[in-house]
Amino acid sequence: MTDVHEGGCLCGAVRYTVSSAPMRTIICHCTFCQRRTGSAFGFMPYFKQDDVRITGALKSYEHRSDESNRLLRIEFCPNCGTTVSMTAEVFPGLRGIAGGTFDDRSWIKIHRHVWTRSAHPWVTVPSDVEKFPKTSVAQPPQVK
Ligand SMILES: [Zn+2]
Ligand SMILES: [Zn+2]
Repeated sequence: MTDVHEGGCLCGAVRYTVSSAPMRTIICHCTFCQRRTGSAFGFMPYFKQDDVRITGALKSYEHRSDESNRLLRIEFCPNCGTTVSMTAEVFPGLRGIAGGTFDDRSWIKIHRHVWTRSAHPWVTVPSDVEKFPKTSVAQPPQVK
């Protein structure tokens, strides 16, 4: 079994390779993720920083969480605007890769849904995943 996966932004200027399985994969219903994606929720597998190789220049934007006041840093392609990566002060050593940017997305398994208190009322969270009304940072990732 191989844990090497590739992906990139819409225009192809930014490409990446990950070489391990995600530490955790989160669906995030927080209002920051809703706004930054312009969509219903964030979809991010988090990898060990060292297992991610990115080629092409990314622009970054830092945002402070209104709830925890901790830094969130999104990185996007300056040409097409696709968010490719995100790092968070609460996950040191980990790098999130935007789930929708993988060339093949069929292997990605969702571990938990967080910030469900701000989920859209028409979103149904499956019963077989962990669910948290707010952040799940107090519960460390389970390394499989
Ligand atoms: Zn691009
Ligand atoms: Zn979020």
